[in-house]
Amino acid sequence: MIAENLQSIKEQLPSEVNLVAVSKFHSVEEIMEAYNAGQRVFGESRPQELAKKVSALPQDIEWHFIGHLQTNKLKMVLPYASLVQSVDSLHLLEAVNAWGVANSKRIDILLELHIGAEQTKQGFTEEEILDLCFRASSFKGVRFCGLMGMATNTDNEEDIRADFTRISDYMAYLKDLFPEMEAFKELSIGMSGDWQIALDYGATMVRIGTAIFGPRVSA
Ligand SMILES: *Cc1c(COP(=O)(O)O)cnc(C)c1O
Repeated sequence: MIAENLQSIKEQLPSEVNLVAVSKFHSVEEIMEAYNAGQRVFGESRPQELAKKVSALPQDIEWHFIGHLQTNKLKMVLPYASLVQSVDSLHLLEAVNAWGVANSKRIDILLELHIGAEQTKQGFTEEEILDLCFRASSFKGVRFCGLMGMATNTDNEEDIRADFTRISDYMAYLKDLFPEMEAFKELSIGMSGDWQIALDYGATMVRIGTAIFGPRVSA
């Protein structure tokens, strides 16, 4: 089933859009099924779970961290994640940056823009991200690679389109304003319920869990 799901998504996904298979709460065996079907990029949202899976699974998997990250868990995540998609506060950004500097690394990150209607969701405002981009060169331990966002969790397509319009327009604005941020080109939008819509708004990455692996058992 996992291989078939992947196949059908891949058939609809333009080749330049990166598919992140969100494997949180799914087993090593399920991930291997996707791996054997050719999938190499996986997304995890919990540090402990990521660390466990990294050691149990093939080395050529590219792991993206997509969950809320506490600063006391950085060393469980930063050595393994090729992209931290969910940098959602200045406190976290500064901590990741400091870790990168201390380890002579540049950590690739996306800045999470709060776009959905949910009050609880983390993320920066447009103004905060603008301010960070003005100071981008002062963060020597990270590289700003783009924006991540989660649309409102709703069946109302107009609301989803409004959220994606907002982040897509902001991405274009930032790229225009900061041409020197050469790596700033990823727009990570779209999940199981709305990734086809996200393609209309310039998604370069989609993060799909349920539509590949089925429902998550615990949450
Ligand atoms: C869980 C999660 C996803 C995947 O959600 P699905 O609806 O299962 O595709 C994508 N992005 C983030 C940030 C997530 O936490």
